[in-house]
Amino acid sequence: MRWSNCYIPTLKEAPADAEVVSHKLLTRAGMIRKLTSGIYIYMPLGLKAIEKTAAIVREEMNRAGALELSMPMVQPADLWQESGRWEFYGKELLRFQDRNGRDYCLGPTHEEVITDLVRGEVRSYRQLPINLYQIQTKFRDEIRPRFGLMRGREFIMKDAYSFDRDEAGADKSYWAMYEAYQNVFKRLGLRFRAVEADSGSIGGSFSHEFMVLADTGEDTIAACTGCEYAANVERAEVAAPAVPVSLPVVGGIEEVPTPGKHTVEEVCAFLGVSQSALVKTLILVADGKPVAALVRGDRELNDVKLKNLLKCDELELAAPELVQKVTGAPVGFAGPVGLNVERVFADHELLTSDGWIAGANKGDTHLRNVSLGRDAKIERYADLRVITPADACPRCGQPIELTRGIEVGHVFKLGTKYSEPLKCTFLDEDGKEKVMIMGCYGIGVSRVVASCIEQNHDADGIVFPPPIAPFEAVLCCLDPKNGETLGKAEEFYAELKAQGVDVILDDRDERPGVKFKDADLVGMPLQLVVGGKGLARGIVEAKDRRTGEKTELPVDGFAEAFRTWRAAVRAGWGL
Ligand code: ATP
Ligand code: MG
Repeated sequence: MRWSNCYIPTLKEAPADAEVVSHKLLTRAGMIRKLTSGIYIYMPLGLKAIEKTAAIVREEMNRAGALELSMPMVQPADLWQESGRWEFYGKELLRFQDRNGRDYCLGPTHEEVITDLVRGEVRSYRQLPINLYQIQTKFRDEIRPRFGLMRGREFIMKDAYSFDRDEAGADKSYWAMYEAYQNVFKRLGLRFRAVEADSGSIGGSFSHEFMVLADTGEDTIAACTGCEYAANVERAEVAAPAVPVSLPVVGGIEEVPTPGKHTVEEVCAFLGVSQSALVKTLILVADGKPVAALVRGDRELNDVKLKNLLKCDELELAAPELVQKVTGAPVGFAGPVGLNVERVFADHELLTSDGWIAGANKGDTHLRNVSLGRDAKIERYADLRVITPADACPRCGQPIELTRGIEVGHVFKLGTKYSEPLKCTFLDEDGKEKVMIMGCYGIGVSRVVASCIEQNHDADGIVFPPPIAPFEAVLCCLDPKNGETLGKAEEFYAELKAQGVDVILDDRDERPGVKFKDADLVGMPLQLVVGGKGLARGIVEAKDRRTGEKTELPVDGFAEAFRTWRAAVRAGWGL
């Protein structure tokens, strides 16, 4: 490809609404253009990066035995009603009607459609297992579609779905996908980590998120410095604390006035005690019923853990009116003593001490010397809080580190969540009709491109890993009007092509500074400069975009020298 034949509309300024670096740089590099909120046009170079990513995903899916198909984006409402998600999915599901008044939605994901397909096609255990996937545009009407390709409303996803006869088969399908994902992200040259994620009602370690490590990530990962353990903080376990043999002896409860002190911080500062001396009481609503959760004052409740413990579908903080009703006090004074809530749960850390400060369920008042065992009715102590950097690894006890990541992929064992309501069954060897066990596996292909930029960029622009770069190499011809220089550049171009390198020849009649700036902005990993002066000295200048390191490749023996240099640059990317 020649730059003069390509459309690469680079910009000096990022769009005003771009908040994250990938959005700024993708736009400035001429790779995307916004059509409307959360909906982008993939420009020629942007599309190339996406297609290179998709090609690697496709290869690894095929290698793992998954079969590609393509499902419609428009889905009929009745399938969603059958699975129960028509009511449940909320506003992210874009719904509309056709001319006959029938309801449809734009597919945010395809469990319903694939399950409907498989229940109609697969009758016998002989046809199982099967894993079907597609790489296709999804639509989710996200509330805050403001991060470019990171969180679009329209985006490209690879989604795969496995169907098995039994649990053992489903587990095997799951781990095959896990392996395939490891291969994909390694081959893409990204620094990533597979982390245990919340698997809701399935339990066990059957949900992993693949996270590209980047400071700008929305997710926080707790990763052990000693062992392989890594989990999304949403689910990271906190090991049960050692409970002392004897707890402090607690005197009688005392009321203390705390006028106008609502927050843990205010109360503790007012009473002159540490936040760890207080029990925080949260009132929540689980599937319509009030519950209470207690954690130490300096801790945060992990609502995913509570949700899983309660096995409920919806959990939210109670509205002030409900708090007033069950505590008899305004928000800020709830406590475990005399609380009018049937189910009270406490974080297991609260077993390690006693004699707490807590809300009095009375306006402007707290209690001292609360003994949970003596004064409160607690249904269960469990791991309910969010992990902190001061906690130890729940597996090996070594320190953990919190790092940030961007979720680019998700593997999930679904069990019979969809096959049951949609009656996706088969006849097993024993002649019995059984429900298939499913798994689903997504990769946000367009988000991968964005997150690769979040991870790899500098002040000059994008630093693309070679496998994702729209062009792996740029050959910059400094003086394309000079027939001899251009002729030489074309020779090198042909050599790179012969070596299987996707290369662009910058043959524009522009100042060298402009060309170098554009090459850096678009982030081509291998940059070669062909100019009259260098040629006179018998060299071509080569720059590794990632390290900035410059090398001179000899014109005589160019092919071999380039091959070696390319291998070294790729090795720097871990490829
Ligand atoms: P998130 O928590 O970021 O909204 P999700 O849990 O909704 O993600 P899944 O339903 O598991 O995501 O979708 C599979 C993959 O699709 C995700 O891992 C992510 O890479 C990608 N993805 C999801 N939503 C978007 C979006 N709005 N824009 C771009 N990619 C997305
Ligand atoms: Mg989402």
